[in-house]
Order: sequence, then structure tokens, then C-alpha cells
Amino acid sequence: SAVPLKRALISVSDKSGLLDLGQALSARGVELVSTGGSAKALRDAGLTVRDVAEMTGFPEMMDGRVKTLHPAVHGGLLALRDNPEHVAAMEAHGIDAIDLLVVNLYPFEATVASGADDAACIENIDIGGPAMIRAGAKNQAFTCVITDPEDYAPLLAELDANDGATTLPFRQRQSSIAYGRTAAYDAAVSTWMARFEQTPRRIAASARLAQTLRYGENPHQSASFYVDGSGRPGVATATQHQGKELSYNNINDTDAAVELVSEFDGPTVAIVKHANPCGVATGSTLAEAYTRAFDCDRTSAFGGIVALNGTLDEATAAAIAEIFTEVVIAPAATDAAIEVFRRKKNLRLLTTGTLPDPRTASRAMKQVAGGWLVQDKDAGHIELADLKIVTRLAPTDDQLADLLFAWNVAKHVKSNAIIYARAGATVGIGAGQMSRVDSSRIAARKALDVAEVLGLPQSAAVGSVVASDAFFPFADGLLAAAEAGATSVIQPGGSMRDDEVIAAADEAGLAMVFTGMRHFRH
Ligand code: 5GP
Repeated sequence: SAVPLKRALISVSDKSGLLDLGQALSARGVELVSTGGSAKALRDAGLTVRDVAEMTGFPEMMDGRVKTLHPAVHGGLLALRDNPEHVAAMEAHGIDAIDLLVVNLYPFEATVASGADDAACIENIDIGGPAMIRAGAKNQAFTCVITDPEDYAPLLAELDANDGATTLPFRQRQSSIAYGRTAAYDAAVSTWMARFEQTPRRIAASARLAQTLRYGENPHQSASFYVDGSGRPGVATATQHQGKELSYNNINDTDAAVELVSEFDGPTVAIVKHANPCGVATGSTLAEAYTRAFDCDRTSAFGGIVALNGTLDEATAAAIAEIFTEVVIAPAATDAAIEVFRRKKNLRLLTTGTLPDPRTASRAMKQVAGGWLVQDKDAGHIELADLKIVTRLAPTDDQLADLLFAWNVAKHVKSNAIIYARAGATVGIGAGQMSRVDSSRIAARKALDVAEVLGLPQSAAVGSVVASDAFFPFADGLLAAAEAGATSVIQPGGSMRDDEVIAAADEAGLAMVFTGMRHFRH
């Protein structure tokens, strides 16, 4: 199993230690064969080197893309020298056995890390190097492969200890290192090539375990939290200032809450339960926004997740601290606000630095039995100019502002979603029902509860706007909203019965706008 070392092929990008190695091998009478840059470096040091081009009978070409990809090289690396047919083929084609391959690859990873442009990264994908490494490593019965300058000294020690030969155990070890290197190299190339796409494969390649969770959605489910390395601001990259570790449900709900408030520009607060908002409101201050969001559903807000789209201040912290809250997340928090929460040991406070841009394209994934569904994240956004007024009555400016507010909230509510809103605050949210009419009824019922809690003479939906995440397939859902007191409506439109629904809206004296975009969320 000991193979005397007579011929070495050297082709290295990282030339550290190259000259010492070349000298040591030459001194042992080893013939050196080498590629362009490596051959030049060795020759400049006064060593005798044979060019690979001479061995292959082909010049190195195409900017080095083709140097060693030739049967003279691969035959020399792969031939089984105890196999008569292989030996005959070598003789017939003038192929010289290569006993040692020293290769390190084009610095692809370093090129990517340097921020080089795509063309430079592509040019640094080594083709011939990995091909040779894999060939030599496969032929471990005869060929020794070295892929790391750190292994030059162990190689020379191996030769010293074995009378100028390599032993099988040494070659086997080197082979495993070699395949490890080419595997990592191709993984880096693949990850980089998929840089625009969040697919399960890419996630698998770049996911990093961030936290082993106490349990999953339920105590009998084990769970963990992986981050994707994208650095997108949000729950995965937030700093936790206090409180217990986040649970699986906390992370899920906190994510929903942050994504929701990031839709809005002015001070806005969302309170989330079971991944749905139970109240969302704007205000002149965050404290006011919080109170108005809280008023939408004081019962559900208990134990909720609160997200703010601005710096958490003392007054807002004090208002939040009045009830039991699981998590508060904001881009930042003042020292005074942090001080307020210090007394609430169990409350988890997270800051994200900035908010995610809801319009940034990314991918969303969902697992089904036996596969994954992959889609673009819902980055759809509607502006005033996108709205089409379809009723005789047009919404007022205030109503238009509320319609857009309610629409942006609806995007973050599980379907079927019906949202009543007034003056930049939700007053009734119907989420996750199998029929749109049921969502309408629930939202209307919630608006009655708000009236009761706040001591209003009539439902908080009176004079409100209503948003529906998908079209009203029949007039009934719309009429339920009108009955509850809504005066204007925003919905995608596009139902077969749009005409009927528009006629019903006109009849009920509603103003209605179509967005032309749906926001299903499941
Ligand atoms: P040198 O500096 O000796 O000209 O080039 C050494 C580098 O070329 C090594 O990193 C080696 O992996 C790489 N290499 C050797 N043969 C080929 C080939 O046929 N194609 C490509 N793309 N790279 C090669």
C-alpha cells in the first residue's frame, strides 16, 4: 500500500508554503508538473518544472478556464496501477502516473466576501481544481491529494517516515479532507448562486440554529428557532432587553406584530394575539396609539404582543405595563421606558434597530405533508391613486385615509378578514372565519363591545369604514357591514356579482372603492 512518490502535480492559487514544498519534493527527486502561475513561481525559485501544457499537449486556454481538464491529467490521477487494462491504456496514450496532487482552489469564498461583482465571483469558481481533487481522492489506492498548505509539513513527515512513499492510511485521511473541501466549496457556490431566492434548499444551506425552544405550539411538540442569515430586521435579529426566553408562539406572534406596524408611517401600535391583531391604532403619540389599540378589544389584549413602529417612550411603557403583556417590540426604547419595564420581570422587551420594509421582496414558505409551498412574500401595497371608486357616492378624504388604514390592517389578518376602522383605529376585527359573513358579524359584534366598554351611545362601527381582504361574493356581507354602521367600504372587487354588490352599496348609501388586489392570509 505504500506508493513511492515519483511525480507531483502542483496547481495552487494560495501559493503560501509552495516554494518550501517544491524544494523539499525536488530534493527527494520528485518530478514537478505544474500549471501557469504555480509553475512560474517554482521556476523563479530555481526549480525544474514541467508544464501541464506539455503533458496535455494543449495550451492553457480561455482565461485559465481550461488548464488541466484533459485525459493526460485525469488518467494519471485515476489509473489503477495494479489493473492491467489501466496500465495498458496509460502506455497506449502516453499517460504518466501522478502520485501526488497538490491543489488549492480559486478563492471563491474570499472573492464573494470581498464584495466583488458577479463576473469576478463567477470567474473565481474553480472547475479543473475540484475535478482533479475528486479524481485523485477517489484513487486513494495510489494517489495522494493535498488541498491545504497546512498539510505540507505532515506530507513531508509522511515521506520521511516511509522512505519517500505515502501510506494508505495517510492517503485515506487526505481523501476525506479533499472531499470535505470540494463539498464545502460547491455549497458556497450554490448558496451564492441562490442569493436572490429564498427556497427550501437555500434555507437548508444557510439556516443557523438560533434557539432550542422549550416546546412548540403545544407542550408535547419539541421545537427550535432557525435564523436565515438575511439580517432582515424583525424578531429574528432583535435584541432582547429583559424577560424570559421567547416561546414558539411568542416568536410567531411577535413576527406578525412587527410586520403589521411596519406598514405604517405615523405613530402606530398593534396588539397581537394568536397571530391576529386584536387592535391596531394610530395616534398623535405612541401612548395615544396604544390606548386606542387597547380600546378595540381590551379583553383579548390581555397577554398580548405589542408592537410599536417608533421608539418606546416612558408614557407608552407605563400604559402598556398596566396590564399583563407577553412581549413588547419596537425599533428602540428610551432608558426611561426600559426602567418602567424593569419592574415587570416577565415582560419581554425587544428592540429591532429599524423596521423591516414591507415592500422588500422576499420568499415565504409553508410546509405541507411531503413538500413545501414557496411563494413571494405578500409585499403588495395600495396607494390612494390605485383606488377605484365604484359607487355613486365617493368617500371623503377622512374616509379614504381610514379605508387605506383598514386595508393595510386587513393584509395582516387571517382570512376571511373584515376590519372596521374609524379615525385611524380599528374598532372591530373579524378574523379567520370560513365565511365572510361570519367575519362581518364578529367584527360588528366587537364594535358593539367597544361601545359598551367606552360607554358610547351606539356601536363603534357607526360611521366607520370597513375593509375586506377579498371580494364580497354576495351582497350579504356588505349589507351586514352597512347594518353595523359602516359608511364606506374597501375591497378588491372582481367578483362575478360585482354589479349586484355595487348596486347594494348604492342602495345602502355606501361609498365603495376597489383595490384590484387581494390580501388572503392563511
Ligand atoms: P496557477 O496559479 O497555477 O496558474 O493556477 C492554479 C489554480 O488553477 C488552482 O487554484 C487550480 O485549482 C486551478 N485550476 C487548475 N486547473 C484548472 C482548470 O482546468 N480550470 C480551472 N478553472 N481552474 C483550474
